[in-house]
Amino acid sequence: MAESIRIDRDTWRFEDGNVRFFLLCGTEKALLLDTGMHAPDAKELAQKLTSLPLLLMNTHCDPDHISGNRAFDEIFMSPAEEEHHRSRGGTGRIRPVRDGDILDLGGRPLMVIDNPGHTPGSIALLDVDARVLYSGDSVQDGIIYLFGKYRDVDLYAASLARLATFADRYDVIYPCHGSFPVGPLLVPRLLEGISAVQRGEAPCVPVDLRGSKVRLCKFPYAGFYCDYPQR
Ligand SMILES: [Zn+2]
Repeated sequence: MAESIRIDRDTWRFEDGNVRFFLLCGTEKALLLDTGMHAPDAKELAQKLTSLPLLLMNTHCDPDHISGNRAFDEIFMSPAEEEHHRSRGGTGRIRPVRDGDILDLGGRPLMVIDNPGHTPGSIALLDVDARVLYSGDSVQDGIIYLFGKYRDVDLYAASLARLATFADRYDVIYPCHGSFPVGPLLVPRLLEGISAVQRGEAPCVPVDLRGSKVRLCKFPYAGFYCDYPQR
């Protein structure tokens, strides 16, 4: 069962094995950001912590982020993620959120930043006043999946470059995997790494990942699983 840990008065993280998801509360509404991998009861877990009306948003729809989605009739996500969501058996009505959109939970504006590459409709969410960036899987210090269907290394690199342009608006990053939290300097480091991968200059080795042959491109601060051979 996912373990809830309070980050501050109005914010919780849920540690669900190798993945985490978040609960953000304003004065009027609460937002669950993803629903983990082994947490079909994510909605109930959140409702134990807040009595506010509860919304769901997905950073993206890989299976380790949607296990509790079915308890919700509607889901905020990028429209570019809907096909991926359906392909994972996702149900519910999509409430599209687009780059620059602000969702206000009541005294807590959250800004959507399109962040495609890891998946077509990956988003990051900026907790504007708290100066926290919720980065989904795109910025983290584990191994970031960039191989196979729905992934795109070039888009990912462009998204990192764009995230870096918001650097003066966040002091800390809350990722869905790896260490919690991470510092903003991880963004330019990942960009440096993925740029080396694009140029064919990264230290990549072929590895077997649950039956798929992929390239593992490992750096001191994080790594990438990329297509093998390089596309
Ligand atoms: Zn993930």
